[in-house]
Amino acid sequence: MAKQAIFEEHPEVARRFPDLHPPFEPQQAVVEANRCLNCFDAPCTAACPTHIDVPKFIKKIGSRNLRGAAVSILDANVLAESCSRVCPVEVLCEGSCVMHRYNKQPIEIGRLQRHAMSTFYDSGAQIPKRNSPARKEKIACIGAGPASLACAAELRQQGFNVTIFDKRPLPGGLNTYGVAEYKLRAADSLREAAAILELGVEYRNEEIADDAALAKLEQEFDIIFLGIGLGQMHKLGVAGDATGGVVDALEFIAGIKMGTTLTVGKNVIVVGAGNTAIDAAVAAVRLGASNVHIVYRRDEKSISAFDFEFEHAKQEGVKFVWQTLPVAVHSDGGNAKALECVTVQVDAAGKFTQVQGSNFQMACDMVIPAIGQSPLLDFLGKFRDLKVEKGRIVTDRATGATSIGKYFAGGDCINGGREVVDAVADGKRAALGIAAKLAGGK
Ligand code: SF4
Repeated sequence: MAKQAIFEEHPEVARRFPDLHPPFEPQQAVVEANRCLNCFDAPCTAACPTHIDVPKFIKKIGSRNLRGAAVSILDANVLAESCSRVCPVEVLCEGSCVMHRYNKQPIEIGRLQRHAMSTFYDSGAQIPKRNSPARKEKIACIGAGPASLACAAELRQQGFNVTIFDKRPLPGGLNTYGVAEYKLRAADSLREAAAILELGVEYRNEEIADDAALAKLEQEFDIIFLGIGLGQMHKLGVAGDATGGVVDALEFIAGIKMGTTLTVGKNVIVVGAGNTAIDAAVAAVRLGASNVHIVYRRDEKSISAFDFEFEHAKQEGVKFVWQTLPVAVHSDGGNAKALECVTVQVDAAGKFTQVQGSNFQMACDMVIPAIGQSPLLDFLGKFRDLKVEKGRIVTDRATGATSIGKYFAGGDCINGGREVVDAVADGKRAALGIAAKLAGGK
């Protein structure tokens, strides 16, 4: 197995980005678990894209069988620790908890799952290996994010030979490099990815970026899984957007998580109002910026971040400037010094018009565009026969099969960028599809 890159958590990162939600103390977890009604046909399980048996694992926590709880969770979702930190539980499992019907607080499923998983990994435990006969077929997973890790884990558990390829030295994809550190520490993402590699999955720090590399892969492997995520973040597309101090949100967050971006200027402007924009804005506050603004072209009602993310940003001191569109970045000595904006109005058809004479400037040292990622068209263009619609790979929903027999796909490259748990579900579904195909469609 290839030697893994070493990651050391920067103490300053740990100091500035403490956990957003404190973990349960053991007794608290037992008390919370015993509030669960152990519903039959539990709606919380139905709401989870990976269908974790929520009442089952909660019952085990209630009887202090934490290992049993963790193993039960892992059976459904091999990235259960990261999902327990980053899942929008308010709109998934906890959002559908029956306690809402009785005007009671929903069971804190996310925190209970985290309690079980953290205790499991803290104890040095490893994912239990299934006793499957060895298979001769080889599968390559391109990309080392949640979809590929979930796909690789399931296939390996079924006895297949699996190799993950990624251009980055550390596995985990956005879990390691792109989620705000106060939600999920890079170190925890890596611990979870390492547990999957420990099943016997090989990791190669190699970029598969051209026809020659793909052709080589096709020679060596029976099936190729595309867990390639999305491409570059969109640029602002205004005059001056290549000046110093303009850094896209994912690059900014990755810099913090790897301990290389630990300073920001006084005035930071984030453009966009999705969850990644919120992560970047809050991170800028935590790094010491005095004025952090989010500039968004629509109004407050149209914000795309989840409500709890929006509230969190406001609590951290982020200010919002609505119905505002950047038109230029002005610089001084090669670094951003002001963002020129206009006020806009949007009509019922979604067309934006500039309010005449509304130009104004906002002082800044840093501008962080967080206006979405483009599809990986460069990469996808290498496949002449791959069916792609709106920049997303088209797959069979039940199996993850693409329009090319040897290729399967899952995660952001097929869904356009949803939650980690959706990518995990996609990866596992594709693994089952791959196994069925290799078994002759049975
Ligand atoms: Fe427990 Fe709520 Fe799920 Fe029912 S819906 S099993 S109460 S967590």
